[in-house]
Amino acid sequence: MVLAGTPPWHLLARERHALHWTKLKRDAPRGSDAEEEEFMKDEEIQEETLLRWQEEWESAAFGRWTFQCIPSIRPWIDRKFGELTYFTAQALTGHGDFRKFLFSIKKVDSEICCHCDRNLVDTVQHTILECPKFDKERQGLPPGSIPELVSEMLKSEDRWNLISRKFACILEKKRHLNEMPRPPSQAAQQAAPTTMQASATT
Ligand SMILES: [Zn+2]
Repeated sequence: MVLAGTPPWHLLARERHALHWTKLKRDAPRGSDAEEEEFMKDEEIQEETLLRWQEEWESAAFGRWTFQCIPSIRPWIDRKFGELTYFTAQALTGHGDFRKFLFSIKKVDSEICCHCDRNLVDTVQHTILECPKFDKERQGLPPGSIPELVSEMLKSEDRWNLISRKFACILEKKRHLNEMPRPPSQAAQQAAPTTMQASATT
C-alpha cells in the first residue's frame, strides 16, 4: 500500500469518519452565547492519518525490504513525479524475477543466482548492483545501495527516470535470459547448489 501511496483501509475509514463528524459539528447551528469550540482542521486529521500510517509501517511484520527502500512515507507520497513502473515495483518489493523470492514461493529449487558463478543468493541487490551478467546494463547507474538509489530517485524527475530506466534495462535482460532454454549441465548444477548464502537484502 505504501508503494501505491494509499493508506491502509482502517486508517482511511477512521479518517473519513473523523472528517465527517468534524464537518457536522462545525456546521451545526449554535446559540449566540455558545462557547467557541475548537475543531480539528481537515489537514490536521489527514496529518494524523499519515503519522499513524508511518508508525504502523515502521512496526509492520511484512514488506520489510520495501521499508528499507522507503523508510519514510511522506517524501514517497508527496513526490510530484515518478511513475511506478512494473520493473521499479519489482525492485522495491523484491517480488519478481529474483530467485530468493521464487524459492520462497517454491517456484525454483535454489536461491542461488544462475547468471554468474559467484554462488550468491539472487536478490534485488545482487541482480541490480552486483551480478556481472548485467554489468553492461548497469553502466551509468549512480553509486549506492538500492535504498540509497530510491532516495536519489526522489530528488528529481531526471534522477527518477534515469534510475528507473536502469532497473528496467537490467530486469528486462534478466527476463529475456530466463526465458531462453538453459544448457542441461547448467540446469542440473542450479538444481543442486553446494552452498547457500544468507541474503542481507530481503
Ligand atoms: Zn549473479
